[in-house]
Amino acid sequence: MPYCPRPKDVRRPAGREPAGVALTRSPGTLRMTKTAAPAPGSATASKPAAPKIGIVSLGCPKALVDSERILTKLRAEGYELSPSYEGAEAVIVNTCGFLDSAKAESLEAIGEAMKENGRVIVTGCMGGEEQTIREQFPNVLSVTGPHQYEQVMDAVHEAVPPAHDPYTHLVPAEGIKLTPRHYAYLKISEGCNHRCSFCIIPSIRGDLASRPAAKVLYEAERLVQAGVQELLVISQDTSAYGVDLGYEESPYKGRPVKARMLDLCRELGDLGAWVRLHYVYPYPSVDEVIPLMAEGKILPYLDIPFQHASPDVLRAMKRPAHQEKTLDRIKGWREICPDLALRSTFIVGFPGETERDFQVLLDWLEEAELDRVGCFKYEPVEGATANALAGAVPEEVKQERWERFMAAQQKISERKLARQVGRTIEVIIDEVDDEGAIGRSWADAPEIDGNVFLNGETRVAPGDIVQAKVEFSDEYDLWAALPDED
Ligand code: SF4
Repeated sequence: MPYCPRPKDVRRPAGREPAGVALTRSPGTLRMTKTAAPAPGSATASKPAAPKIGIVSLGCPKALVDSERILTKLRAEGYELSPSYEGAEAVIVNTCGFLDSAKAESLEAIGEAMKENGRVIVTGCMGGEEQTIREQFPNVLSVTGPHQYEQVMDAVHEAVPPAHDPYTHLVPAEGIKLTPRHYAYLKISEGCNHRCSFCIIPSIRGDLASRPAAKVLYEAERLVQAGVQELLVISQDTSAYGVDLGYEESPYKGRPVKARMLDLCRELGDLGAWVRLHYVYPYPSVDEVIPLMAEGKILPYLDIPFQHASPDVLRAMKRPAHQEKTLDRIKGWREICPDLALRSTFIVGFPGETERDFQVLLDWLEEAELDRVGCFKYEPVEGATANALAGAVPEEVKQERWERFMAAQQKISERKLARQVGRTIEVIIDEVDDEGAIGRSWADAPEIDGNVFLNGETRVAPGDIVQAKVEFSDEYDLWAALPDED
């Protein structure tokens, strides 16, 4: 008995039927039958069996377009489309929530899919009423609203992983990476809502656009499964993650995860890899992740580009100008997490920077005792509003300040690294050759920070995380050794 109660309504506008879909369709709806029927485009004997997904689509043409997009994505990923509940490994129900009668029809469709198949992914307009749906059908796999194609696909991937097909899967699941196999960058958002006067990134990349948490987490999981041991979380503004989405939840492994830095860090911390946070703007929300670092969930490492310490320069840069408060916060963070490594970048010679401003910066640096610091001499960037500021600093003054800054930080770094001598620390190995191994500690991001040298150590391989005892230090690097073999 076909599900569709009005088979006579079926119309198939020429050229609009998605290839390989054998579904009963009336204007604005796609429905399924209870028993299997051969579907065009089903797997051939020479290819691996493709997983099959069914779809029931209710509602208006906009909902139908959503269903078509989902179908297109499913087919592009090698899923077959099942016209029957019996032949489907999971069923997507795209609901309508416009009128009470439409809601009732949506609930009826979900109920039928649960009864006939049991593995149901709900999406569409009625998805906004998750509680109503879950009250009646607590076991639906996921509930999302309209246009949330990516979340629907995430739910499909979780319920029915795509089959590996060597004909179509030329790209590994984790994507093609330019980094070594054991670490990878994980981009959580694009763009930036700030307007720092020296920067043109917002005009190039636009305002903040965060990726849904589930999307980031599934990518992170694929990377870890492919052998990545260290995830480097990047964005233009990591602590603003999710602001643009209203911290919206998305379904990850059957439970909702908010697009919020704390929630994301907590989930990433459960994947079993090192997690390192880059480009963190010093919002109050940063305080919330410090306990996760103290617990060892994520690396005690924060890359916060402070840029300067003088309130006047920070104001001209259009950056937050509360550096005294920041010192107190750093102190508080270190009380919770004594091993916290802070990395930052600064600009010297910004227009209007006086010798007094620069001295404020040096004093602040001395007090903050940051671990890793980069410093740039200000250069005007075409299109930046800072170009219009008065008080350009002569090149030789910029150079002289840069040298003083670097010399001051070198002493701080040397002093801090000397405190590590005698400790046993975790080291991730990057390279091994006949002369030994080169690795990094929790305080060293690849390419930009220091190294831990294991001279003569050839028993390790890139990606290994080992315990090593620190024996020497200099201004930027450590030398360590593995315990002797018995
Ligand atoms: S410097 Fe960073 S925070 Fe400021 S506008 Fe550029 S990207 Fe945004």
